[in-house]
Amino acid sequence: MPETHNPFTSLMEITKRPPIVFVEGHGSWLKDQDGKEYLDFIQGWAVNCFGHSPRILVEAIVKQSEKLINCSPAFYNGPMIKLADLIVKYSCLQKVFFANSGAEANEGAIKLARKWGQKYRHGAYEIITMEHAFHGRTLATMSASGKPEWQQLYEPKVSGFPKVPLNDLDAVRSAINDQTVAVMLEPIQGEAGVLVATDDFLRGLREITRQKGILLILDEIQTGMGRTGKLFAYQHSGVEADIMTLAKGMGGGVPLAALVARESISCFEPGDQGGTFNGNPLMMAAGIAIIEELTKPGFLEKVTETGDYLRGRLEALSSQYGLREVRGKGLLLALDLQKEIGPEIVEEALKRGLLINSPRKITLRFMPALNVTRAEIDQMITILKSVLGSICKGSANP
Ligand code: PLP
Repeated sequence: MPETHNPFTSLMEITKRPPIVFVEGHGSWLKDQDGKEYLDFIQGWAVNCFGHSPRILVEAIVKQSEKLINCSPAFYNGPMIKLADLIVKYSCLQKVFFANSGAEANEGAIKLARKWGQKYRHGAYEIITMEHAFHGRTLATMSASGKPEWQQLYEPKVSGFPKVPLNDLDAVRSAINDQTVAVMLEPIQGEAGVLVATDDFLRGLREITRQKGILLILDEIQTGMGRTGKLFAYQHSGVEADIMTLAKGMGGGVPLAALVARESISCFEPGDQGGTFNGNPLMMAAGIAIIEELTKPGFLEKVTETGDYLRGRLEALSSQYGLREVRGKGLLLALDLQKEIGPEIVEEALKRGLLINSPRKITLRFMPALNVTRAEIDQMITILKSVLGSICKGSANP
């Protein structure tokens, strides 16, 4: 038998990847090396807010790369100042530190809270986080996360992250002690299956943290930058945190993240925090192009309308096939299935040219480009129906 060459052997197997190599992408569509097209409702895990290779991003990167790509974070550069000003202008916070990934921004948030605890709370360092939370893959952010599968991984973890159930204010109250410096959570737990923190819970948390003189940290890495129909998800409840982290959609597809803080708690001193690529002009130019596009009049309202349309189509599908709840906000939506067939659906959808995600076996998650069209949503539903038709034979209710 001739030995067949496996082209993937040099890569570490950090996830089960299908044997497909993508070579091109435009808007909601990806193309593989055999020319097969895929409708993309994952978009780099809620990253490509304007789809694949949008003109505004390509032009911003090309223009900036001809001028200045990198000049060290030890110096100011024009795009760095401009992007920080834009984030401050559009958010409720005043100080920005740029990073390259969500985990790095969250690691920075943890450090900032601990530094603040050292300076102003007699060394308090514990950060209460939520069960099933996802904050990233550095050791501290994994420790802050509440993913059950990670409990035994890379022990010993970083200590100081007591966990409480989401939407349980009493549990938060009981977890607070002299060592508590902050409460940290996602407004919507994306990786856990799009579990929404209620407005009452968020408002209650703000009240408790104010009363106790501790910080509130919102991880808006998945929910920020227009994903839920507002620029930041906290704008739905009006709850303003002391620290917010951003990444994913912020660069529209390139690695860019930010740690944003209230001026009065922003206590890093020179040498406390840094990173070689942080604030480099190339990524900053990308971030400027994205935030300027997101904040154009009417854009976010359109995201809400498109999200409502997608929700309506998913709800109809759910009643047709006897499925369960549709959850989420804007264009971060989930559909619960009647049994644990998520991975099977994802695999079959891929064969039929559709990329969707199943964060839990019982849930499908939808995070298309924010400018996805109704026609593309209809196409996605058609493919999904055909997949459900073959997997849930007999359960359709046409
Ligand atoms: N926080 C949240 C809420 C996320 O969804 C993610 C990634 O999925 C992260 C943090 C980690 O971000 P990154 O993968 O860019 O490190």
